[in-house]
Amino acid sequence: MTRSFSSHLSICLLPAVLLLIHAAIASDPSPCDPLSALYPDQLFLPNTTLYTSSISSYAWMSGHLQPACIIQPQSTSQLSFIIKILADFNTTFAIRGGGHNANPGFSNIDNEVTIDMRGMRQIEVGDGVLRVGAGALWGEVYDAADAKNVSVMGGRISTVGVGGLTTGGGMSIFSLDRGWVCDGVKNFEVILSNSSVINANATSNPSLFRSLKGGLNNFGVVTRFDLTTFKHGPIWGGTTLLSNASESDLIREVTNFKMAKHDPSAHTVTIFGYNLPDKSYMLLNNMWYLKPNANKTSLHGLMSLEPKLNQSLVVASAGEHARRVATPIPAGTWALWGTTTVSISPTILFKIHEIWKSTSSLITSKFPASDINFAFGYQSVPKSTPESGPNSLGIPSTAVPERDWVNLLVTFQYQDGALTSDLEAILLGAIDKVDGIAREEGAHVKYKYMDYAHWKQDVFGGYGAEEVERMKGVAQDYDPLGMFQHQVTGGFKLF
Ligand SMILES: Cc1cc2nc3c(=O)[nH]c(=O)nc-3n(C[C@H](O)[C@H](O)[C@H](O)COP(=O)(O)OP(=O)(O)OC[C@H]3O[C@@H](n4cnc5c(N)ncnc54)[C@H](O)[C@@H]3O)c2cc1C
Repeated sequence: MTRSFSSHLSICLLPAVLLLIHAAIASDPSPCDPLSALYPDQLFLPNTTLYTSSISSYAWMSGHLQPACIIQPQSTSQLSFIIKILADFNTTFAIRGGGHNANPGFSNIDNEVTIDMRGMRQIEVGDGVLRVGAGALWGEVYDAADAKNVSVMGGRISTVGVGGLTTGGGMSIFSLDRGWVCDGVKNFEVILSNSSVINANATSNPSLFRSLKGGLNNFGVVTRFDLTTFKHGPIWGGTTLLSNASESDLIREVTNFKMAKHDPSAHTVTIFGYNLPDKSYMLLNNMWYLKPNANKTSLHGLMSLEPKLNQSLVVASAGEHARRVATPIPAGTWALWGTTTVSISPTILFKIHEIWKSTSSLITSKFPASDINFAFGYQSVPKSTPESGPNSLGIPSTAVPERDWVNLLVTFQYQDGALTSDLEAILLGAIDKVDGIAREEGAHVKYKYMDYAHWKQDVFGGYGAEEVERMKGVAQDYDPLGMFQHQVTGGFKLF
Protein backbone atom coordinates (compact mmCIF):
# COMPACT_ATOMS: atom_id res chain seq x y z
CA MET A 1 0.00 0.00 0.00
CA THR A 2 1.49 3.36 -0.89
CA ARG A 3 1.64 6.33 1.39
CA SER A 4 -0.71 8.41 -0.76
CA PHE A 5 -3.24 5.61 -0.69
CA SER A 6 -2.98 5.11 3.05
CA SER A 7 -3.06 8.78 3.90
CA HIS A 8 -6.24 9.27 1.90
CA LEU A 9 -8.12 6.19 2.93
CA SER A 10 -11.26 6.41 0.91
CA ILE A 11 -14.56 6.04 2.61
CA CYS A 12 -15.40 3.08 0.35
CA LEU A 13 -12.33 1.14 1.47
CA LEU A 14 -12.77 1.87 5.15
CA PRO A 15 -15.12 -1.05 5.88
CA ALA A 16 -12.70 -3.49 4.19
CA VAL A 17 -9.80 -2.14 6.22
CA LEU A 18 -11.83 -2.36 9.41
CA LEU A 19 -12.66 -5.99 8.62
CA LEU A 20 -8.95 -6.68 8.18
CA ILE A 21 -8.23 -5.03 11.50
CA HIS A 22 -10.88 -7.04 13.29
CA ALA A 23 -9.56 -10.22 11.73
CA ALA A 24 -6.09 -9.23 12.96
CA ILE A 25 -7.41 -8.59 16.48
CA ALA A 26 -8.97 -12.05 16.49
CA SER A 27 -5.78 -13.80 15.37
CA ASP A 28 -2.97 -11.62 16.68
CA PRO A 29 -3.20 -9.09 19.47
CA SER A 30 -0.58 -6.74 17.97
CA PRO A 31 -1.78 -3.58 16.21
CA CYS A 32 1.66 -3.30 14.55
CA ASP A 33 0.51 -5.59 11.71
CA PRO A 34 -2.42 -3.53 10.46
CA LEU A 35 -0.44 -0.34 11.10
CA SER A 36 2.40 -1.74 9.03
CA ALA A 37 -0.01 -2.72 6.24
CA LEU A 38 -1.61 0.71 6.22
CA TYR A 39 1.45 2.87 6.73
CA PRO A 40 4.48 0.82 5.64
CA ASP A 41 6.77 3.84 5.30
CA GLN A 42 5.90 5.19 8.71
CA LEU A 43 5.95 2.04 10.82
CA PHE A 44 9.36 1.21 12.31
CA LEU A 45 10.08 -2.29 13.62
CA PRO A 46 12.92 -3.39 15.92
CA ASN A 47 16.30 -4.01 14.32
CA THR A 48 15.71 -1.52 11.53
CA THR A 49 17.69 1.67 11.00
CA LEU A 50 14.69 3.97 11.41
CA TYR A 51 13.61 2.29 14.64
CA THR A 52 17.13 2.47 16.09
CA SER A 53 17.58 6.10 15.13
CA SER A 54 14.19 7.00 16.60
CA ILE A 55 15.15 5.40 19.93
CA SER A 56 18.62 6.95 20.01
CA SER A 57 17.12 10.40 19.37
CA TYR A 58 15.59 10.50 22.88
CA ALA A 59 17.56 13.00 24.93
CA TRP A 60 18.15 10.66 27.87
CA MET A 61 18.79 6.95 28.33
CA SER A 62 15.52 6.70 30.30
CA GLY A 63 13.77 7.15 26.93
CA HIS A 64 15.58 4.19 25.36
CA LEU A 65 12.73 1.72 25.82
CA GLN A 66 11.88 -0.87 23.19
CA PRO A 67 8.33 -0.61 21.78
CA ALA A 68 6.97 -3.41 19.59
CA CYS A 69 6.70 -0.76 16.87
CA ILE A 70 6.96 2.99 16.38
CA ILE A 71 4.40 4.73 14.21
CA GLN A 72 5.20 8.16 12.83
CA PRO A 73 2.02 9.73 11.41
CA GLN A 74 2.37 12.52 8.90
CA SER A 75 -1.09 14.01 9.08
CA THR A 76 -3.97 14.49 11.47
CA SER A 77 -6.17 12.17 9.41
CA GLN A 78 -3.59 9.39 9.59
CA LEU A 79 -3.21 9.83 13.32
CA SER A 80 -6.96 9.79 13.81
CA PHE A 81 -7.11 6.41 12.09
CA ILE A 82 -4.15 5.16 14.14
CA ILE A 83 -5.97 6.12 17.36
CA LYS A 84 -8.99 4.17 16.13
CA ILE A 85 -6.82 1.09 15.61
CA LEU A 86 -5.18 1.46 19.01
CA ALA A 87 -8.63 1.81 20.57
CA ASP A 88 -9.88 -1.31 18.78
CA PHE A 89 -6.88 -3.29 19.97
CA ASN A 90 -7.08 -1.75 23.44
CA THR A 91 -3.32 -1.26 23.14
CA THR A 92 -1.21 0.58 25.65
CA PHE A 93 0.78 3.30 23.90
CA ALA A 94 3.09 6.26 24.37
CA ILE A 95 2.98 9.69 22.74
CA ARG A 96 6.38 11.18 21.91
CA GLY A 97 7.00 14.87 21.18
CA GLY A 98 10.58 16.14 21.32
CA GLY A 99 11.61 13.22 23.56
CA HIS A 100 13.22 15.44 26.21
CA ASN A 101 11.36 14.39 29.33
CA ALA A 102 13.65 12.49 31.71
CA ASN A 103 10.93 10.39 33.34
CA PRO A 104 11.00 6.78 32.07
CA GLY A 105 7.90 5.78 30.17
CA PHE A 106 6.60 9.31 29.68
CA SER A 107 7.14 9.31 25.92
CA ASN A 108 8.23 5.78 25.10
CA ILE A 109 7.12 2.30 26.12
CA ASP A 110 8.44 -1.26 26.20
CA ASN A 111 6.74 -3.92 24.00
CA GLU A 112 3.77 -1.76 22.99
CA VAL A 113 3.29 1.09 20.50
CA THR A 114 4.92 4.51 20.45
CA ILE A 115 3.41 7.33 18.41
CA ASP A 116 6.30 9.51 17.28
CA MET A 117 4.82 12.92 16.54
CA ARG A 118 7.94 14.15 14.74
CA GLY A 119 6.38 13.36 11.37
CA MET A 120 3.97 16.25 12.06
CA ARG A 121 6.08 19.38 12.30
CA GLN A 122 4.68 21.62 9.58
CA ILE A 123 4.56 25.29 10.58
CA GLU A 124 2.25 27.79 8.88
CA VAL A 125 2.09 31.47 9.49
CA GLY A 126 -1.43 32.83 9.95
CA ASP A 127 -2.93 36.12 10.98
CA GLY A 128 -1.50 36.71 14.47
CA VAL A 129 -0.71 33.01 14.91
CA LEU A 130 1.85 30.36 14.05
CA ARG A 131 0.15 27.02 13.38
CA VAL A 132 2.66 24.52 14.65
CA GLY A 133 2.55 20.76 14.04
CA ALA A 134 2.78 19.08 17.45
CA GLY A 135 6.00 17.22 16.64
CA ALA A 136 7.99 20.40 15.99
CA LEU A 137 10.98 21.46 18.05
CA TRP A 138 11.24 24.99 19.40
CA GLY A 139 14.17 25.80 17.12
CA GLU A 140 11.93 25.19 14.09
CA VAL A 141 9.20 27.38 15.56
CA TYR A 142 11.66 30.22 16.16
CA ASP A 143 13.05 29.88 12.63
CA ALA A 144 9.53 30.40 11.27
CA ALA A 145 8.86 33.27 13.69
CA ASP A 146 12.19 34.99 12.97
CA ALA A 147 11.55 34.72 9.23
CA LYS A 148 8.33 36.71 9.70
CA ASN A 149 9.83 39.09 12.23
CA VAL A 150 7.45 38.02 14.97
CA SER A 151 7.89 36.36 18.37
CA VAL A 152 6.09 33.61 20.23
CA MET A 153 6.39 32.39 23.79
CA GLY A 154 8.36 29.18 23.59
CA GLY A 155 11.06 27.08 25.22
CA ARG A 156 14.47 28.53 25.98
CA ILE A 157 16.38 25.73 24.25
CA SER A 158 15.87 25.06 20.58
CA THR A 159 16.13 21.25 20.72
CA VAL A 160 13.18 20.69 23.09
CA GLY A 161 9.75 19.65 21.81
CA VAL A 162 6.71 21.90 21.56
CA GLY A 163 4.31 19.07 22.55
CA GLY A 164 5.50 18.20 26.05
CA LEU A 165 6.71 21.65 27.07
CA THR A 166 3.46 23.39 26.12
CA THR A 167 0.97 20.86 27.49
CA GLY A 168 2.88 20.87 30.82
CA GLY A 169 2.86 24.69 31.14
CA GLY A 170 6.10 26.00 29.64
CA MET A 171 8.55 28.59 30.91
CA SER A 172 9.86 31.06 28.35
CA ILE A 173 12.14 34.10 28.27
CA PHE A 174 8.92 36.14 28.08
CA SER A 175 7.13 34.36 30.93
CA LEU A 176 7.58 36.94 33.69
CA ASP A 177 6.02 39.52 31.42
CA ARG A 178 3.48 37.48 29.44
CA GLY A 179 2.75 34.22 31.25
CA TRP A 180 3.17 30.52 30.65
CA VAL A 181 3.87 29.16 27.16
CA CYS A 182 0.49 27.41 27.30
CA ASP A 183 -1.14 30.80 27.86
CA GLY A 184 0.16 31.78 24.43
CA VAL A 185 -1.85 29.01 22.73
CA LYS A 186 -4.89 30.33 20.90
CA ASN A 187 -6.17 26.99 19.73
CA PHE A 188 -5.33 23.31 20.13
CA GLU A 189 -6.24 20.82 17.42
CA VAL A 190 -6.76 17.54 19.30
CA ILE A 191 -7.64 13.93 18.54
CA LEU A 192 -9.89 12.40 21.16
CA SER A 193 -10.14 8.73 22.12
CA ASN A 194 -13.10 8.24 19.76
CA SER A 195 -10.68 9.35 17.00
CA SER A 196 -12.57 12.55 16.26
CA VAL A 197 -10.56 15.69 15.52
CA ILE A 198 -11.70 18.80 17.32
CA ASN A 199 -10.48 22.31 18.05
CA ALA A 200 -10.27 23.63 21.60
CA ASN A 201 -10.14 27.36 22.07
CA ALA A 202 -11.81 30.16 24.02
CA THR A 203 -15.15 29.66 22.27
CA SER A 204 -15.09 26.05 21.06
CA ASN A 205 -14.68 23.37 23.75
CA PRO A 206 -13.46 25.97 26.29
CA SER A 207 -13.28 23.52 29.22
CA LEU A 208 -10.96 21.28 27.21
CA PHE A 209 -8.99 24.35 26.10
CA ARG A 210 -8.35 25.25 29.73
CA SER A 211 -7.51 21.67 30.69
CA LEU A 212 -4.94 21.22 27.93
CA LYS A 213 -3.02 24.21 29.29
CA GLY A 214 -1.18 22.21 31.94
CA GLY A 215 -3.01 18.86 31.57
CA LEU A 216 -0.33 17.06 29.51
CA ASN A 217 -1.64 13.98 27.67
CA ASN A 218 -4.71 13.38 29.87
CA PHE A 219 -7.33 14.38 27.30
CA GLY A 220 -6.15 13.57 23.80
CA VAL A 221 -3.25 13.84 21.39
CA VAL A 222 -2.62 17.42 20.42
CA THR A 223 -1.85 17.55 16.71
CA ARG A 224 -1.43 21.30 16.26
CA PHE A 225 -0.73 24.26 18.51
CA ASP A 226 -1.82 27.68 17.21
CA LEU A 227 0.54 30.05 19.00
CA THR A 228 -0.18 33.74 19.40
CA THR A 229 2.47 35.87 17.72
CA PHE A 230 3.51 39.34 18.84
CA LYS A 231 6.04 41.93 17.83
CA HIS A 232 9.17 42.04 19.95
CA GLY A 233 12.60 43.41 19.27
CA PRO A 234 15.85 41.67 20.15
CA ILE A 235 16.61 40.62 23.72
CA TRP A 236 19.81 41.08 25.69
CA GLY A 237 21.24 38.10 27.53
CA GLY A 238 23.29 34.96 27.79
CA THR A 239 25.35 32.97 30.22
CA THR A 240 28.05 33.77 32.76
CA LEU A 241 30.23 31.08 34.31
CA LEU A 242 31.51 32.02 37.75
CA SER A 243 34.29 30.54 39.82
CA ASN A 244 33.87 28.43 42.96
CA ALA A 245 34.73 31.52 44.97
CA SER A 246 31.40 33.12 44.01
CA GLU A 247 29.24 30.41 45.59
CA SER A 248 27.90 32.38 48.55
CA ASP A 249 27.90 35.70 46.67
CA LEU A 250 25.75 34.11 43.99
CA ILE A 251 23.10 32.83 46.40
CA ARG A 252 23.07 36.27 48.04
CA GLU A 253 22.57 38.02 44.70
CA VAL A 254 19.79 35.64 43.63
CA THR A 255 18.06 36.44 46.95
CA ASN A 256 18.62 40.18 46.47
CA PHE A 257 17.26 39.99 42.91
CA LYS A 258 14.08 38.26 44.14
CA MET A 259 13.62 40.47 47.20
CA ALA A 260 13.98 43.71 45.19
CA LYS A 261 11.13 45.33 43.29
CA HIS A 262 9.93 42.88 40.63
CA ASP A 263 11.13 43.71 37.12
CA PRO A 264 9.11 41.86 34.43
CA SER A 265 11.82 42.45 31.81
CA ALA A 266 14.48 40.54 33.76
CA HIS A 267 14.56 36.76 33.57
CA THR A 268 17.21 34.61 35.25
CA VAL A 269 18.02 30.93 35.64
CA THR A 270 20.83 30.39 38.14
CA ILE A 271 22.44 26.97 38.40
CA PHE A 272 24.65 25.59 41.16
CA GLY A 273 26.28 22.56 39.58
CA TYR A 274 28.62 20.06 41.21
CA ASN A 275 30.64 17.53 39.20
CA LEU A 276 32.10 14.24 40.27
CA PRO A 277 34.67 12.76 40.27
CA ASP A 278 36.71 15.97 40.01
CA LYS A 279 34.62 17.74 42.72
CA SER A 280 34.40 20.92 40.66
CA TYR A 281 31.63 23.50 40.77
CA MET A 282 29.78 24.89 37.80
CA LEU A 283 28.10 28.12 38.85
CA LEU A 284 26.10 29.35 35.87
CA ASN A 285 24.03 32.46 35.75
CA ASN A 286 21.72 32.79 32.75
CA MET A 287 20.19 36.24 32.41
CA TRP A 288 17.94 37.85 29.82
CA TYR A 289 16.54 41.35 29.61
CA LEU A 290 13.64 42.09 27.29
CA LYS A 291 14.66 45.74 26.71
CA PRO A 292 18.28 45.60 25.57
CA ASN A 293 18.96 49.33 25.80
CA ALA A 294 17.52 49.84 29.28
CA ASN A 295 19.70 50.18 32.38
CA LYS A 296 18.96 46.62 33.69
CA THR A 297 19.29 47.88 37.27
CA SER A 298 17.58 44.81 38.69
CA LEU A 299 20.38 42.61 37.30
CA HIS A 300 23.32 44.75 38.42
CA GLY A 301 24.04 42.67 41.54
CA LEU A 302 24.15 39.44 39.54
CA MET A 303 26.16 41.06 36.76
CA SER A 304 28.75 42.42 39.20
CA LEU A 305 29.97 39.04 40.46
CA GLU A 306 33.69 38.37 39.87
CA PRO A 307 35.75 36.60 38.76
CA LYS A 308 33.92 35.58 35.59
CA LEU A 309 35.45 32.47 34.07
CA ASN A 310 33.50 32.87 30.89
CA GLN A 311 30.76 35.16 29.68
CA SER A 312 28.70 35.22 26.53
CA LEU A 313 26.14 38.02 26.34
CA VAL A 314 24.47 39.07 23.10
CA VAL A 315 21.50 41.04 21.80
CA ALA A 316 19.47 38.62 19.70
CA SER A 317 16.01 37.25 19.02
CA ALA A 318 14.50 34.71 21.41
CA GLY A 319 15.18 32.08 18.77
CA GLU A 320 18.84 32.99 18.47
CA HIS A 321 19.18 32.83 22.27
CA ALA A 322 17.52 29.39 22.22
CA ARG A 323 19.96 28.11 19.60
CA ARG A 324 23.01 29.51 21.42
CA VAL A 325 22.29 27.64 24.64
CA ALA A 326 21.42 24.33 22.96
CA THR A 327 24.46 22.22 23.76
CA PRO A 328 24.28 18.58 22.65
CA ILE A 329 23.60 16.03 25.37
CA PRO A 330 26.36 13.39 25.24
CA ALA A 331 25.12 9.97 24.08
CA GLY A 332 24.54 7.54 26.91
CA THR A 333 23.56 10.18 29.49
CA TRP A 334 20.99 9.35 32.14
CA ALA A 335 19.02 12.10 33.84
CA LEU A 336 16.83 12.40 36.88
CA TRP A 337 15.03 15.54 37.87
CA GLY A 338 12.53 16.82 40.38
CA THR A 339 11.18 20.14 41.49
CA THR A 340 9.53 22.20 44.14
CA THR A 341 8.47 25.79 44.68
CA VAL A 342 9.13 28.15 47.56
CA SER A 343 8.12 31.65 48.40
CA ILE A 344 11.07 34.03 48.59
CA SER A 345 12.27 35.31 51.97
CA PRO A 346 15.58 36.87 53.06
CA THR A 347 16.84 33.49 54.32
CA ILE A 348 15.16 30.63 52.43
CA LEU A 349 17.63 30.31 49.56
CA PHE A 350 20.59 30.31 51.96
CA LYS A 351 18.99 27.41 53.84
CA ILE A 352 18.24 25.53 50.62
CA HIS A 353 21.82 26.11 49.54
CA GLU A 354 22.98 24.17 52.62
CA ILE A 355 21.00 21.21 51.27
CA TRP A 356 22.82 21.53 47.93
CA LYS A 357 26.12 21.46 49.82
CA SER A 358 25.22 18.52 52.06
CA THR A 359 23.85 16.57 49.09
CA SER A 360 27.08 17.25 47.18
CA SER A 361 29.03 15.85 50.15
CA LEU A 362 26.75 12.84 50.32
CA ILE A 363 27.24 11.89 46.67
CA THR A 364 30.99 12.50 47.01
CA SER A 365 31.22 9.99 49.83
CA LYS A 366 28.85 7.45 48.24
CA PHE A 367 29.99 7.54 44.61
CA PRO A 368 33.48 9.12 44.65
CA ALA A 369 34.59 7.76 41.29
CA SER A 370 31.34 8.16 39.37
CA ASP A 371 30.68 10.55 36.55
CA ILE A 372 27.79 12.54 38.08
CA ASN A 373 26.64 16.10 37.59
CA PHE A 374 24.30 17.32 40.31
CA ALA A 375 22.60 20.72 40.21
CA PHE A 376 20.12 23.00 41.92
CA GLY A 377 18.62 25.59 39.53
CA TYR A 378 16.60 28.63 40.60
CA GLN A 379 14.21 30.71 38.54
CA SER A 380 11.07 32.77 38.99
CA VAL A 381 7.69 31.20 38.25
CA PRO A 382 5.74 32.67 35.29
CA LYS A 383 3.14 35.34 35.64
CA SER A 384 -0.53 34.40 35.75
CA THR A 385 -2.28 35.95 32.78
CA PRO A 386 -6.05 36.04 33.26
CA GLU A 387 -6.34 37.98 29.99
CA SER A 388 -5.33 34.80 28.10
CA GLY A 389 -8.16 32.89 29.78
CA PRO A 390 -7.58 30.43 32.59
CA ASN A 391 -5.13 27.56 32.42
CA SER A 392 -5.34 24.42 34.55
CA LEU A 393 -2.20 24.92 36.65
CA GLY A 394 -4.24 25.79 39.72
CA ILE A 395 -2.12 28.78 40.74
CA PRO A 396 -4.39 30.93 42.92
CA SER A 397 -5.47 34.18 41.30
CA THR A 398 -4.31 35.99 44.45
CA ALA A 399 -0.72 34.75 44.00
CA VAL A 400 1.95 36.85 42.28
CA PRO A 401 4.26 33.96 41.36
CA GLU A 402 6.59 35.98 39.13
CA ARG A 403 7.43 38.21 42.08
CA ASP A 404 7.10 35.94 45.09
CA TRP A 405 7.86 32.37 44.03
CA VAL A 406 11.07 30.59 43.18
CA ASN A 407 11.11 27.34 41.25
CA LEU A 408 13.82 24.90 42.28
CA LEU A 409 14.87 22.31 39.71
CA VAL A 410 17.04 19.50 41.09
CA THR A 411 18.88 17.42 38.49
CA PHE A 412 21.28 14.53 38.23
CA GLN A 413 23.05 13.65 34.98
CA TYR A 414 25.21 10.54 35.02
CA GLN A 415 26.64 7.81 32.84
CA ASP A 416 25.99 4.68 34.89
CA GLY A 417 22.31 3.69 34.77
CA ALA A 418 22.83 1.34 37.74
CA LEU A 419 22.99 4.42 39.99
CA THR A 420 19.41 5.39 39.16
CA SER A 421 17.55 4.12 42.22
CA ASP A 422 20.17 5.41 44.69
CA LEU A 423 20.25 8.84 43.04
CA GLU A 424 16.48 8.92 42.84
CA ALA A 425 16.24 8.42 46.61
CA ILE A 426 18.82 11.19 47.16
CA LEU A 427 17.00 13.57 44.81
CA LEU A 428 13.59 13.03 46.38
CA GLY A 429 15.14 13.19 49.85
CA ALA A 430 16.75 16.54 49.06
CA ILE A 431 13.41 17.91 47.82
CA ASP A 432 11.69 16.66 50.98
CA LYS A 433 14.26 18.52 53.05
CA VAL A 434 13.71 21.70 51.03
CA ASP A 435 9.96 21.38 51.53
CA GLY A 436 10.50 20.80 55.26
CA ILE A 437 12.65 23.91 55.63
CA ALA A 438 10.20 25.92 53.55
CA ARG A 439 7.33 24.80 55.79
CA GLU A 440 9.23 25.84 58.92
CA GLU A 441 9.93 29.19 57.34
CA GLY A 442 6.35 29.71 56.13
CA ALA A 443 7.66 29.68 52.56
CA HIS A 444 6.20 26.40 51.32
CA VAL A 445 4.24 26.47 48.04
CA LYS A 446 2.25 23.41 46.98
CA TYR A 447 2.49 24.02 43.25
CA LYS A 448 5.12 21.89 41.48
CA TYR A 449 5.97 22.50 37.83
CA MET A 450 4.91 19.44 35.83
CA ASP A 451 7.64 19.63 33.17
CA TYR A 452 10.35 19.53 35.84
CA ALA A 453 8.70 17.03 38.18
CA HIS A 454 9.92 13.55 39.01
CA TRP A 455 7.31 10.92 38.20
CA LYS A 456 6.88 10.07 41.89
CA GLN A 457 5.96 13.66 42.80
CA ASP A 458 2.34 14.62 43.34
CA VAL A 459 2.04 17.27 40.65
CA PHE A 460 -1.74 17.34 40.49
CA GLY A 461 -1.88 17.62 44.29
CA GLY A 462 -0.16 20.97 43.77
CA TYR A 463 -2.87 22.06 41.30
CA GLY A 464 -5.41 21.89 44.14
CA ALA A 465 -8.45 19.66 44.66
CA GLU A 466 -10.89 22.01 42.93
CA GLU A 467 -8.88 22.23 39.72
CA VAL A 468 -8.26 18.48 39.67
CA GLU A 469 -11.99 17.74 40.13
CA ARG A 470 -12.75 20.07 37.22
CA MET A 471 -10.14 18.37 35.04
CA LYS A 472 -11.45 14.92 35.94
CA GLY A 473 -14.89 16.00 34.81
CA VAL A 474 -13.47 17.24 31.52
CA ALA A 475 -11.55 13.97 31.05
CA GLN A 476 -14.78 12.01 31.61
CA ASP A 477 -16.66 14.21 29.12
CA TYR A 478 -14.05 13.99 26.35
CA ASP A 479 -12.61 10.54 27.03
CA PRO A 480 -15.42 8.54 28.64
CA LEU A 481 -13.64 5.19 28.28
CA GLY A 482 -10.47 6.58 29.84
CA MET A 483 -8.05 5.86 26.98
CA PHE A 484 -5.75 8.69 28.05
CA GLN A 485 -5.83 7.53 31.68
CA HIS A 486 -5.26 3.79 31.10
CA GLN A 487 -3.94 3.15 27.59
CA VAL A 488 -1.57 6.13 27.57
CA THR A 489 0.38 5.19 30.67
CA GLY A 490 3.15 7.82 30.50
CA GLY A 491 2.87 11.16 32.24
CA PHE A 492 1.09 12.40 35.35
CA LYS A 493 -2.40 10.91 35.44
CA LEU A 494 -5.61 12.40 36.81
CA PHE A 495 -7.15 9.11 37.98
C1 LIG B 1 17.60 20.59 27.54
C2 LIG B 1 16.25 20.91 28.12
C3 LIG B 1 15.80 22.22 28.13
C4 LIG B 1 14.55 22.54 28.65
N1 LIG B 1 14.13 23.85 28.64
C5 LIG B 1 12.91 24.15 29.13
C6 LIG B 1 12.42 25.50 29.10
O1 LIG B 1 13.09 26.43 28.63
N2 LIG B 1 11.20 25.75 29.60
C7 LIG B 1 10.43 24.76 30.14
O2 LIG B 1 9.32 25.06 30.58
N3 LIG B 1 10.84 23.49 30.16
C8 LIG B 1 12.06 23.15 29.68
N4 LIG B 1 12.49 21.86 29.71
C9 LIG B 1 11.60 20.81 30.26
C10 LIG B 1 10.63 20.36 29.17
O3 LIG B 1 9.53 21.25 29.15
C11 LIG B 1 10.11 18.94 29.41
O4 LIG B 1 11.19 18.05 29.38
C12 LIG B 1 9.09 18.52 28.36
O5 LIG B 1 8.46 17.34 28.81
C13 LIG B 1 9.74 18.28 27.02
O6 LIG B 1 8.77 18.10 26.00
P1 LIG B 1 9.09 17.13 24.78
O7 LIG B 1 7.96 17.19 23.83
O8 LIG B 1 10.47 17.37 24.27
O9 LIG B 1 9.15 15.75 25.57
P2 LIG B 1 8.49 14.26 25.42
O10 LIG B 1 9.39 13.47 26.29
O11 LIG B 1 8.41 13.88 23.99
O12 LIG B 1 7.06 14.45 25.99
C14 LIG B 1 6.83 14.80 27.34
C15 LIG B 1 5.38 14.46 27.70
O13 LIG B 1 4.50 15.22 26.88
C16 LIG B 1 3.55 14.38 26.25
N5 LIG B 1 3.30 14.90 24.91
C17 LIG B 1 4.24 15.27 23.99
N6 LIG B 1 3.64 15.68 22.87
C18 LIG B 1 2.30 15.57 23.05
C19 LIG B 1 1.16 15.82 22.25
N7 LIG B 1 1.30 16.28 21.01
N8 LIG B 1 -0.06 15.58 22.76
C20 LIG B 1 -0.21 15.11 24.02
N9 LIG B 1 0.84 14.84 24.83
C21 LIG B 1 2.08 15.07 24.36
C22 LIG B 1 4.22 13.01 26.18
O14 LIG B 1 3.28 11.96 26.10
C23 LIG B 1 5.02 12.99 27.47
O15 LIG B 1 4.27 12.51 28.56
C24 LIG B 1 13.73 21.52 29.19
C25 LIG B 1 14.19 20.20 29.18
C26 LIG B 1 15.43 19.89 28.65
C27 LIG B 1 15.90 18.47 28.65
